[in-house]
Amino acid sequence: MTLACGHDPSPHSEYSTGTAHLPDGREVCWECADTIQRDAMVSETKLLAYLNSDGTALQTWSGGILARVTSNVAHKVGFHGSTRHYLTAIDPTGKKWHGTSPGTGMYAKMRASK
Ligand SMILES: [Zn+2]
Repeated sequence: MTLACGHDPSPHSEYSTGTAHLPDGREVCWECADTIQRDAMVSETKLLAYLNSDGTALQTWSGGILARVTSNVAHKVGFHGSTRHYLTAIDPTGKKWHGTSPGTGMYAKMRASK
């Protein structure tokens, strides 16, 4: 099977498909999905990513590095002991991002810094 990007599906386990679906419905390999997301970050002002397990990088769901975390400050919020991480990050093009995440290994909602 050849995908929309012209590659075969990424190496994968029996529990995953080795492909990613773009918002426009095209099915591409993981490597291309990461590349497309990085390219989109150049013009996008919002980014939904994952904070990696040690809190040092923002990643795609397939593990591609999108940006390096430059500061990660945790604040307690509310009365239930929950924590919010305030993040700043810089991507490979030098563009700066800031946002919040509930914690490592979870999503991070980022916005491009002015
Ligand atoms: Zn591909």
